Amino acid sequence: MSKDWLKGIKSAYDTIIIGSGLAGLTAANKLAKLGHKVLILEHHYNLGGLATWFKRKGGHILDISLHGFPTGMIKTCRKYWTQEIADSIVRLKNIRFDNPQFSFWTNFDKNDFTRLMKDRFGIVKETIDEFFATVRAMNFYDDLSMTTRELFEKFFPGRTDVHRLLMEPITYANGSTLDDPAITYGIVFANFMDKGVYTFKGGTNELIKKMKKELLKNGVDIRTHCMVERIVVDEDKTVQGVEVQGRMIPAKTVLSNSNILNTVQKLVGEEQFAPEFVKEVKKVRLNDSSCQVYIGLKRGETIDNVGDLLFTSQEKEFSSESLLEPETTSRTFSFYYPETRPGLNMYSIVASTNARFKDWAHLTKQEYENKKEVLIERTLDALEKYVPGVRKKVGHLEASTPMTFKRYTTHPGGVSFGTKFEGLAISKDLPRQIGGLFHAGSVGIIMSGWLGAANYGVIVANEVDKFLHSVREPQPELETVSV
Ligand SMILES: Cc1cc2nc3c(=O)[nH]c(=O)nc-3n(C[C@H](O)[C@H](O)[C@H](O)COP(=O)(O)OP(=O)(O)OC[C@H]3O[C@@H](n4cnc5c(N)ncnc54)[C@H](O)[C@@H]3O)c2cc1C
Repeated sequence: MSKDWLKGIKSAYDTIIIGSGLAGLTAANKLAKLGHKVLILEHHYNLGGLATWFKRKGGHILDISLHGFPTGMIKTCRKYWTQEIADSIVRLKNIRFDNPQFSFWTNFDKNDFTRLMKDRFGIVKETIDEFFATVRAMNFYDDLSMTTRELFEKFFPGRTDVHRLLMEPITYANGSTLDDPAITYGIVFANFMDKGVYTFKGGTNELIKKMKKELLKNGVDIRTHCMVERIVVDEDKTVQGVEVQGRMIPAKTVLSNSNILNTVQKLVGEEQFAPEFVKEVKKVRLNDSSCQVYIGLKRGETIDNVGDLLFTSQEKEFSSESLLEPETTSRTFSFYYPETRPGLNMYSIVASTNARFKDWAHLTKQEYENKKEVLIERTLDALEKYVPGVRKKVGHLEASTPMTFKRYTTHPGGVSFGTKFEGLAISKDLPRQIGGLFHAGSVGIIMSGWLGAANYGVIVANEVDKFLHSVREPQPELETVSV
């Protein structure tokens, strides 16, 4: 008999959270601490969504999305998780670029970028300062008409080398391109420039283990292996609960951490929304996906420190499009030295490229396998330049594609970073369409990545809390009228 993953659940909840990405988990923790009854339903066997890892024979543990995040994650973890989690966040100091236009190491903060731009690229200090002041001042309410390309041309006209320095890491970090609104670049770049790039000591498995412990302590009911099939909405356009494994679980609110398009089109159904809203939903563009090659070194093998994060490319200049080509030579290598997981004493390397779903989605099984083989071989060839003889040290090799990310998260197109900017308005507007329905998760580029997703979880949890109070307690306006 198959296991009943819902055994022992309560008869109803204040909030059901669909999905356990960092947005879903952080929202769940916040709501539980505010005293609400919370259930997380996750279809995968692990929590974490894209913040995940896998283990392979030979002692290998490989991280998927632990390449780096901004310092803001420390505050977010301290405020909305625990001091212990925040204390495990450590800085990566060795960030490296190597491409035909430049090659150097940096600690990836404002001081070092100012030094590099002045000394290496010959940009005058006033222009650099003005650029930093402009991106730092960018916020969500700014004019959206300026693109990142226009921003770069304004400050560094014709300087494709400077554009590459400023853009390439951010494209890897959130899938944004030169043609996206400049704020999607500015907000994320300024976050990194604040104090550099950080990682989680102990690896993603330790982070998620600690988060799970905290959620359980705060009374959150967590169920994995549970794919939510439908969000149930009544005739008054109010959420009633969800259907999962043939059962209806009632709830006052539902917070979906599933992709926003899945949420509207599949879990709720377009027929439940106003036609003008559906029209806007159809305009939402998905962001791109990723390919990765996971390289675990045999136990006992070592490599020199060749940097923590290496942005490498043989393309003459930066181009958002060429980064997505299956044959691209532009990739990031993340090196995980034994310090990443103290006690394990092993090395692993993860190579990531941005990728289009359509380049992988329509292949025969054999073509797909062959293409993955080519990806692995090309990656090892590129790695040999930095770690000579690495092939002989490899104990485990494996690749993932946009299809893999789709299978594990259900996100359409296997998106790594949600949607383009317009998805944010749809996500925020959901509760105005259907009472008690909320969404938190990667949307709009700025609400993606570990920090963006976690912070968006908190923002939406506060909205859920307000809604729950409004349905529990009499409205202040009504009280005034009755007095
Ligand atoms: C290759 C790669 C590298 C990355 N590198 C970095 C990095 O270095 N730094 C960084 O900050 N960010 C990185 N990111 C991005 C970052 O991982 C994500 O933006 C962030 O983790 C997304 O969190 P989320 O809350 O939006 O949800 P997700 O992680 O997308 O999780 C959504 C969850 O919902 C579940 N779900 C969906 N539908 C259902 C359903 N119907 N029923 C039940 N469960 C459901 C899914 O299974 C999943 O667990 C990377 C992403 C990728 C793919």
